[in-house]
Parts: sequence; C-alpha cells; structure tokens
Amino acid sequence: MRVLIIGAGLAGPCLAHALRRHGHDAELFERDTAVDARAQGYRIHINGDGGTALRKWLPPEAYEQALATSCKPGGGVSVTGPDLRKFTEIELPPDVAGITVDRLTLRRIMLRDLTEVTRFGAGFFRYELLDDQTVRVFLTDGSTAEGDLLVATDGANSGVRRQLLPDFPVTVQDTQLIYGRTPLTAQARRLTPAPALEGFLGVLGPDGRRLALAAQRFRQNPADFGLPAADDYLMWGVTAPADVYGPGFFELGAEDLLKLAATTLADWDPSLRALIGLGDPDYLVPASIQTSERPKLGPPRPVTLVGDAAHPMVPAGISAGVAVHDAGLLASHLVSGAPLLEAVRSYESEMLDYGFAAVARSSRGYQ
Ligand SMILES: Cc1cc2nc3c(=O)[nH]c(=O)nc-3n(C[C@H](O)[C@H](O)[C@H](O)COP(=O)(O)OP(=O)(O)OC[C@H]3O[C@@H](n4cnc5c(N)ncnc54)[C@H](O)[C@@H]3O)c2cc1C
Repeated sequence: MRVLIIGAGLAGPCLAHALRRHGHDAELFERDTAVDARAQGYRIHINGDGGTALRKWLPPEAYEQALATSCKPGGGVSVTGPDLRKFTEIELPPDVAGITVDRLTLRRIMLRDLTEVTRFGAGFFRYELLDDQTVRVFLTDGSTAEGDLLVATDGANSGVRRQLLPDFPVTVQDTQLIYGRTPLTAQARRLTPAPALEGFLGVLGPDGRRLALAAQRFRQNPADFGLPAADDYLMWGVTAPADVYGPGFFELGAEDLLKLAATTLADWDPSLRALIGLGDPDYLVPASIQTSERPKLGPPRPVTLVGDAAHPMVPAGISAGVAVHDAGLLASHLVSGAPLLEAVRSYESEMLDYGFAAVARSSRGYQ
C-alpha cells in the first residue's frame, strides 16, 4: 500500500513511521520549506492517549529520545487572577498524564529517519480520484504523486478538508491569541510565578483577557542526541477579545505583536508585562481560535482526515494528543488486513466519536 500524507506536523510523521514499520510505503508532503522554516518551537503537552500512541508507533530509539528531551516533570495546572494573589491547583482527569515536549524537537526526532520520504516545499493544491480507486495529488511545486490513500494531517485549516468536505462546520471564536516565548534567563526565572516554572499556569482576567504560562525545562539537551541545541524557555499565550487586538492583527510584525501582547496586560501584575516584554521576537505567532462540529460521514473514499484537520478545537491542551492518537488509530486499521475502504470507514467512525468527544471536552476545559 502506498499512502500519501499531507502535512509533516505531529500526526503525519507518526503515521508515516507506523506504516513503514509494517512494510507500507508512506510519503510526506510538507508546505514549509524546512522543519524549522517558521517559529514552531513551542512547548506542547501530549496527553496520555497521544503519549501511548507515540510509544507504540515510533521506532524505539526515537521514542526514547522524545522522552529524554521532554520537559522535566513538575507541578500540574493552576489558575490565578491578574494580581497573582491566590493560586488554585486544578484536579485533572487521569488521562491528562502524557509527555510535555518542545514541538520542534519532537518533529526533528520524528522526521530524522524519514528524510528520504519527506518532501518539504511541496504544499497540497488539490487531489483527484482515479478510475482504479487510487488518488492523485497535485502539489504547489508543480509535481504530482499517486497512491492508494491520501491522508490529510495538514492541521486546522486543512486544504484537503476544504476539497473533501466543503461544508465542514468550523466556527471562528471572537477571541484571538498571541503565542510567544521568553528565554528562561535568571531574570525571567525571578519574574515567573512558581506554578508556571513547575507546570502550567492560567491567569484569568474578568474581561476575557487570559494568559497561559508554562516553562519548558529540557530533561536533556537535544544536542546530546545530535540535534540543534535548545535552551529552556517560558511559553506564553495572551488571549483577548478580537476588538482588543483590532483589525490588521494577522498582518502585524513580530515587534508589534510583542508590544501588543505586553500592553494588553498593562494593568495586570507588573511581573507579567515584564515577562512578555522579554519575549523572543523570533517566536511570535498570531492565532485565531476555532472549534468545529461533527460532520456526516459520506461514502468511504481513499481520502481521509487525521488530527486538527479532522476536528479543530479550542486550545485546552488535548488536541496534540488526539492528533497523534488518530494517527495510531488509522495505522492500526490500515495494517489490520481489512480491505482499504473498509479500514478507512472503521477508522473514521471511531475517530469521529473520539475526536468530537475531545472537541466537547476542550470547549468545557476552555470555559
Ligand atoms: C503555541 C501553541 C501551543 C500549543 N500547545 C498545545 C498543548 O500544550 N497541547 C495540545 O494538545 N495542543 C497544543 N497546541 C495545538 C497543537 O499544536 C495541535 O493540536 C497539533 O499540532 C495538531 O497536530 P496535527 O499533526 O494535526 O497538525 P499540525 O501539527 O498543525 O501540523 C500540520 C502540518 O501541515 C502543514 N501544512 C499545512 N497546510 C499544508 C498544505 N497545504 N500542504 C502541505 N502541508 C501543509 C503545516 O505546515 C504543518 O507542518 C498548541 C498550539 C500552539 C500554536
């Protein structure tokens, strides 16, 4: 079987490993020109099901490296108010345990053994179904590829999904988010509230403004495994109603985004504004917040969706785990020996149940 995978984020490389371990051909097509072409070095928690999928489907050495370079274990999730007076730890369900990693490091580890089958700078343009039940994909570099199955792991704004399910119900929320990171220098450590150094801290304002803070403290430096060295950092996300960020938000340059994030918290505890002000302009990302509704299942086709492409959800620390879990679920159906379209159908019904339960959970968690 030859599987064409669009998107070399988290789910795509995991799926490629799983299929190749079972003797199938998998090719990855990634729009970015390189693994580190954009600022993507943020800390990410992969929940229990996602961690289990990584352990099961990655080559053992890659999984060991992912674990060794993950974040030092520490505290859980706490919340506080803008004055940082009282911190409350939230009790989490058991399936939250998983691994917390630097996303770029994990992708580097997963992609290092896939160099020969990964094509960077080859974005998805469109696909067509062929008479012999196979599929041809047209890529933005002008090339085409043919396979038995096309899998979309191209994230929340999936181009494959737009063609497959043009009416897919996505809702863009009226809040926007600026993600960034601050190097964990001695000064930044002094400014960082303890629960954010050890775990994840949500600072909740009364007017829709929110700040997420969490330190990535590498257990072992990725350089120990022949990867580019990485230093500890504090990841943050400043959320505000869209009218606070104003029109033109997505066109802002890095310095302006950094200033906007800091001034948005101007009336909060001064340490928070200072921490944001020390942010690294190379890692600023403006984002919208989306959620989605379960679509109806059409007749099975040799095209399917995985991860954020299948079920965009609001940020609540579970979508990455769900994406990797989906990849493992699809792999297990594809290698089961069932006819291809039957395997795709079984995967899709399980994935939709699991994925949209997670969408509902993420909306509740976000509230
Ligand atoms: C700053 C930040 C922090 C986050 N923290 C967490 C967290 O702690 N826990 C959590 O669960 N989730 C978190 N998330 C969300 C998480 O990153 C996603 O849910 C997860 O990465 C989804 O994985 P995926 O493989 O489905 O898609 P992605 O990881 O988004 O990968 C999609 C890939 O497809 C590529 N692509 C897009 N379009 C095309 C195209 N047309 N052609 C080819 N390639 C294309 C993209 O470049 C990308 O490489 C965070 C997100 C951000 C931005």
